Amino acid sequence: MKYYFVKMALRGISPMVWRHLQIPGNVSLAKLHYIIQIVYGWDNEHLHQFHIHGKDYGISYLGGIAFSDNDYGHCAGLSLQESKKLLKRLQQKIVLHQAKIYTLSHRNCPCCQKPQRSKGNHSIQFKTLFGTVVIPSLRVYPCKCSSRTTKTFSLLKSWLPEHISPELQYIETKWASHMSFNKTSTLLQDVLPVTTTHNGASVRNHLHKIAQKQESALEGKPICISGCANQWAKLPKPDKPITVGIDGGYVRSWSEKKNNFEVIIGKSFLETKPPKPFLSDGADNVRDLQFIMHPEVEHVLDWFHLTMRFTVLNQFAKGLVHSDPEAGDEVTKNLSSAKWYIWHGNVKESLDHLEDCYMICDQDGIHYKNQKKFLRNLEEMTTYIENNRNLIPNYGERWRYNETIASSFVESTMNEVVTKRMVKKQQMQWSDKGAHYLLQARTSTLNGDLPKYFEDWYPGLKINRDHEMQAMVSKKAA
Ligand SMILES: [Zn+2]
Repeated sequence: MKYYFVKMALRGISPMVWRHLQIPGNVSLAKLHYIIQIVYGWDNEHLHQFHIHGKDYGISYLGGIAFSDNDYGHCAGLSLQESKKLLKRLQQKIVLHQAKIYTLSHRNCPCCQKPQRSKGNHSIQFKTLFGTVVIPSLRVYPCKCSSRTTKTFSLLKSWLPEHISPELQYIETKWASHMSFNKTSTLLQDVLPVTTTHNGASVRNHLHKIAQKQESALEGKPICISGCANQWAKLPKPDKPITVGIDGGYVRSWSEKKNNFEVIIGKSFLETKPPKPFLSDGADNVRDLQFIMHPEVEHVLDWFHLTMRFTVLNQFAKGLVHSDPEAGDEVTKNLSSAKWYIWHGNVKESLDHLEDCYMICDQDGIHYKNQKKFLRNLEEMTTYIENNRNLIPNYGERWRYNETIASSFVESTMNEVVTKRMVKKQQMQWSDKGAHYLLQARTSTLNGDLPKYFEDWYPGLKINRDHEMQAMVSKKAA
């Protein structure tokens, strides 16, 4: 390899400022430019140009980023890698410059304008979407006239109370509401120069922090209504009737690997029609929650859940027909009567027919391999109806009057909020706290409330939502 010994000097400056260096012969002009920056201790802040044999090379145009002697290959414009590098460097420059200005303008005591005595520098690691910036942060002793009680304090503290940028937290929370923590981290690293130590755990921790913050924003607003039943009547009435549906779903537990725990979600919307009742699937915990939340509303057992249970019983009946046609037909008839009666709110008749089913199936002469299971299901159905008999209306009548009888809108919410993010991947396990925080973040993302939270917390932060609106419009149009 050929090497050149080069002497460089600055023109028009006296005494002469010069550098002697040895450079490899195959160096590109782009590299040579950087070598010059380094040997002179410059920051690449000016436009520049090489003038060789009457031809100009270099970045002499504003916004230019490449040399014309580079081989571009098949790639026009910036590569992702280059853009990440650029953004990172730019971010460093900007943040460091801002920190410098901030420190200078806050160096003096705000009351008496005397400079506050320095305790020395330490450094802050500030995490952003465009990399982590290490910022020198000046600690000072508070001035005598200050009311501060701490011995020293950091000047940048009031500018950067958190060591992470709001936008990074916003994007992490939003993305992790839709996909796993690890995937969020990987995709972020694909497109942005976030730090290489970024991982799923950091995304999870940040999301938890945001969800906690969201929750504390709700503080002061009543979540549950407690107190004496005779005081409930005095509670303020909501402006408009609302329909509320509540449902439970199961996710796998992190602490007890073999167990699941239940997450409960609800959806409510304002009604334009007369008041609607609470609908529930009749599970004790979900029903209790509804009573606690709104004791004074009519509660109705969700028809959807009832009919699902009948569907299961009918499957067993079909199996029975296969092995014992006579008994099977009898059971099928009785099941359909039981369903018909309960549809009309006649709990007693319905239970009678279920009992008949049980008797028929419980005979010794029946040879059906799922006999025991069928009997257990019939028993459970009876208990379910007995436990919820106070919540069983005349569904047929309600239906004719166009009143809500099934909370299928809640089922779909359950699927949207919980199943899509938490249940699909069966290997994924959750702590109850982790599940709670994720669902907080996910609901606010799905409801479109997340940007609003961030803009409230961080005045000056503007989150661009145009593309989301666009997507919603085109989704509706499709
Ligand atoms: Zn002072």
